[in-house]
Amino acid sequence: MRIIMLGAPGAGKGTQAKKIAEKYGIPHISTGDIFRANIKNGTELGKKAKTYMDQGLLVPDELTCDLVVDRIQQDDAKNGYVLDGFPRTIPQAECLTAALEKLGSKIDYAIDVDVPDENIVNRMSGRRACLKCGATYHIVYAAPKKENICDTCGEALVLRDDDKPETVSKRLKVYHEQTQPLIDYYTKQGVLKTVDGTCALDEVFKAIVEILGE
Ligand SMILES: [Zn+2]
Repeated sequence: MRIIMLGAPGAGKGTQAKKIAEKYGIPHISTGDIFRANIKNGTELGKKAKTYMDQGLLVPDELTCDLVVDRIQQDDAKNGYVLDGFPRTIPQAECLTAALEKLGSKIDYAIDVDVPDENIVNRMSGRRACLKCGATYHIVYAAPKKENICDTCGEALVLRDDDKPETVSKRLKVYHEQTQPLIDYYTKQGVLKTVDGTCALDEVFKAIVEILGE
């Protein structure tokens, strides 16, 4: 069961990826985790990636792909994996397809957690964060006990720049330009499955389980 997750930032694909990993006993692999692990262990690929990150540059597609392909060949990924945050672009997807072909493998499912932009902007703009202790809330879905005050430490809550509608809209624009073509790409490969990401978390997961099987 080799799965990649697609979906806009804020669509909840990371949460679903974790639930998939848990249910099916396969690793949840995010590029952030791979970078951190390789840098921590001082691997050759990690050292290369670090030279880009230290300069504030994006790690090139090919190197990112090498790191992912290295990760999915580890023992715990023998029965499959769920990739979260990779591929993000067509060059990354092509790189992954080619590398998998060499291994006699392929992606079985590309799951697109579909949420309209306006829902995402609304969701994100309801987030509140405590800058003192790091707790996060949502004015509708996870409201603090006292309005706008952190339950844990009593600090006033703020709307982070990252969650502001203008920032979210910008990120969504980049997403549509870069990642939307992946939906076409995996449709052509015959592995794209779309789930309605506007439902409750458990409902979304139920739809995913229907696709993957019990
Ligand atoms: Zn707090």
